[in-house]
Amino acid sequence: MRIGKVGGRAVLVTANGSIDIERASTGRFPADVDGLYECWDELRDWTASGTFGDEFVVTGDLEMPIGTARQVFAVGANYADHIAEAGAQTPELPMIFTKFPTCLVGPEASVALPTGKVDWEVELVAVIGRTAHRVAVDEAWSYVAALTVGQDLTERPLQLKGGRAPQFSLGKSFPGFGPIGPWLVSVDEFADPDDLAIECTVTGELMQKSRTSELIFSVPELIAYLSESCSLLPGDLVFTGTPAGVGVFRTPRRYLEPGDVIESSIEGIGTLVTRIESGPAYAGREVLANHVQ
Ligand code: ZN
Repeated sequence: MRIGKVGGRAVLVTANGSIDIERASTGRFPADVDGLYECWDELRDWTASGTFGDEFVVTGDLEMPIGTARQVFAVGANYADHIAEAGAQTPELPMIFTKFPTCLVGPEASVALPTGKVDWEVELVAVIGRTAHRVAVDEAWSYVAALTVGQDLTERPLQLKGGRAPQFSLGKSFPGFGPIGPWLVSVDEFADPDDLAIECTVTGELMQKSRTSELIFSVPELIAYLSESCSLLPGDLVFTGTPAGVGVFRTPRRYLEPGDVIESSIEGIGTLVTRIESGPAYAGREVLANHVQ
């Protein structure tokens, strides 16, 4: 099933339009996406068996297809070709950072550039469905409710500021730097959720193209590793890393410019469109440069 959000209410995305879940189920399922995780399996059964009348179709733009993500984990250096283009070492353990949740936005978002050195990173995003603590790799998929497409937008100079303690989380958390969507696709929809084509174009030019089977640490391995220390909560997100083809490692370098349109696509999910606009200049980078060696 495909779950989206329109007018702040959870919808079932179908070929016939977006179905208001709370109304079509006469209140059996709640209108907020956060309330759906605890009845996810029943919801999936209901959506598979049901037919929905036109009176439950809602119009309006699809919004960010989640409620509250209390934790947003992200993973660096998780595709071999991206590590190679960066001249980096293959990590022995997943390289974890966070995208602070205020950076999250939905499909068709317009993102204002804080500087001229913002880069794209298409990523598969896993949505946690139930509390996970110390789960085994072979059980980890059962803790994932859905997959969606994400962009890990990054201000490169701030990301790498600080030498041995670089500021990944700050450089990847400006407003709008976490587009996700256009909807959630439940894991049961995928014949093999560990092997999905993934690609990214910027204003029509193909920049990234890979498969999620190329992940160094797979989704289950990431869930197991993260849950070894943290408790993962329903609605939490895991950005799983990006393949080669980001702008900072291209020759010549290419950063996002006002007017660019990013199309991020994953097999079995769809395409997330993100529009880039000019924004007010970010002064903090120069301040940091004076204080951090
Ligand atoms: Zn990333």
